[in-house]
Amino acid sequence: MRIDVVSIFPGYLDALDLSLVGKARRDGLLDLRVHDLRDWTGDRHRTVDDTPFGGGAGMVMRPDVWGRALDDVLEGASGRQVLLVPTPSGERLTQRTVEDLATYDQLVLACGRYEGIDARVAERYAAGGVEVREISLGDYVLNGGEVAALVVVEAVARLLPGVVGNPESLVEESHGAAGLLEYPVYTKPPTWAGLDVPEILLSGHHGNIARWRRDRALERTVQRRPDMVAALPAAQLDKNDRAV
Ligand code: SAM
Repeated sequence: MRIDVVSIFPGYLDALDLSLVGKARRDGLLDLRVHDLRDWTGDRHRTVDDTPFGGGAGMVMRPDVWGRALDDVLEGASGRQVLLVPTPSGERLTQRTVEDLATYDQLVLACGRYEGIDARVAERYAAGGVEVREISLGDYVLNGGEVAALVVVEAVARLLPGVVGNPESLVEESHGAAGLLEYPVYTKPPTWAGLDVPEILLSGHHGNIARWRRDRALERTVQRRPDMVAALPAAQLDKNDRAV
């Protein structure tokens, strides 16, 4: 997969050289390219913004600069492409969205700053046949789209084949196919700060451990995310699921 991130702070994305994403890049599993939007400016001051039409506070990012940048990064690739525009007014990013994004050949992330990107940018690419998705991390306002780009790259990259060493780790996770939060996890030592690991996990009885984990996952989801429980299809529950 190829991912292009366009930002006025490309250094923000340096963290993507680290850990599993960094390794995926070095192993050739992920072709991640980070671009400086100012490379597409045409003036001495490398201007990317201007005052908002209609007045008001702040600055808006210019569509002409974004247009040149996005034309270049979209034309430089092929296959299924999607232009992702982070914005607090977008659709909420979920694991389902991330799973879907992992099926594309190219993701392009346009990181806004200031009051955001001139609205004609999303409009023009959508009208031109490019799939455009405006995505929000949640109901709060950040200073820029770079954090959203970090989130998308990390969440999508771990779903690409070969990126997570043991693909089993992806199966029972929170927000996965079971529609539940993950059960609590423990490691050595078996007693720490006067707290014992639940004995059943030391029993070696796989069937009982699986049941215990399922019960804890159900309990947690009921307590913390009743919305997820309400959305669970009945077919996803078994007769021993007493916690719901
Ligand atoms: N004036 C905009 C509004 O009220 O919707 C907020 C602009 S925000 C200060 C600047 C940039 O940060 C946005 O263009 C977007 O790229 C990013 N951003 C802020 N909050 C975000 C969120 N919750 N999810 C995704 N991106 C966000």
